Amino acid sequence: MKHIKIEELEGWYSKNYQNKISGRWITLGQILPIIKTMKNIFKVELAGYSYQNRDIYDLQVGKGKTRIIIWTQMHGNESTGTKALFDLLRFLDKPGGHADIRDQIFDNCTIKCIPMLNPDGAETYTRLNAQKIDLNRDFIDKKALESKLLQKTVNDFQPDYCFNMHDQRTIFSVGKNNDPATISFLAPSEEKSRRVTQGRKSTMEVIVSMNNFLQNVIPNQVGRYSDEFYPTATGDNFQKMGYNTILIESGHYNNDYQREITRKFTFFALLQGVLFISNGTNKTDYKGYFSIPDNEKNYLDIILKDVEYRGNKTDVGILFDEKLGEKILHFVPRVDKIEKLSNYRANKIISDTNLIFKNEEDIKTYLKK
Ligand SMILES: [Zn+2]
Repeated sequence: MKHIKIEELEGWYSKNYQNKISGRWITLGQILPIIKTMKNIFKVELAGYSYQNRDIYDLQVGKGKTRIIIWTQMHGNESTGTKALFDLLRFLDKPGGHADIRDQIFDNCTIKCIPMLNPDGAETYTRLNAQKIDLNRDFIDKKALESKLLQKTVNDFQPDYCFNMHDQRTIFSVGKNNDPATISFLAPSEEKSRRVTQGRKSTMEVIVSMNNFLQNVIPNQVGRYSDEFYPTATGDNFQKMGYNTILIESGHYNNDYQREITRKFTFFALLQGVLFISNGTNKTDYKGYFSIPDNEKNYLDIILKDVEYRGNKTDVGILFDEKLGEKILHFVPRVDKIEKLSNYRANKIISDTNLIFKNEEDIKTYLKK
């Protein structure tokens, strides 16, 4: 049974992460040159095309019997998983002093990856694909080419485990202190009753091992996403078909709007998950999954505390909308709540009892300064 020490992994990461991609807006054009350099160790294949004819790649490595598939960016504006996946591929290519870990993974597992399932949405920084379809609600209808491609790839590959990589908004918090939910996990339900099936137990065991690992670095910032059953969602249906599906939601870390710190923790989770699976005899108790605190929605980008709004003393909660400009992504403030926000935390709290606002425009003008 192999373990990796967090300090050693931090050391490897600082020198070796995939520094050719960074920031929130990650497009196919940025990952293609990296994929091309990987042909020495990964089997690289063109899996198909998006609705607007962009390439969707499939990378495979390892020769073991346990099969793992990882796909990222099925929602085009959720890029943290893609960055973390390329960090994982770097580790598998250049593990430095951890060759024994890499070799065990290759001996025991075969790993397939689809980095960026929705390259059209990535280009325009949208959740949906070019046909305005949410790929994560298209499992039954299969109206999107990208949904068909994913299902065909998974059915042909017959994975034991799937990693379904997403990003969640800043608003999600964890536990009593309302720390930001930097990483959240989900073992999707197979049916409305949310019954804990044997398959879900296996999924939960992997999540427990990833959570235990992350508690060393981001204690109290790991949450559990709602396991309400969604009949048309990808993870729920794959889990029901016997492909154990681990959903990872990358979220906010203090001041990390480019999600470069969250990306590192997402990579830590992915590597730990894969390493745990490669250890074979799983040695965690799935019940630990239920000790991970639920995601709450008690975090905001900015709170203006004790200000005067339309003659009343109150708090104002601001969320940023991400809007793609000519070449860069803008974070545009929007008033989300006007109420006492004592139960909320925020990335930034401005306490100034002298602030007086007549309307929302006033607030926006103030925030531009
Ligand atoms: Zn998503």
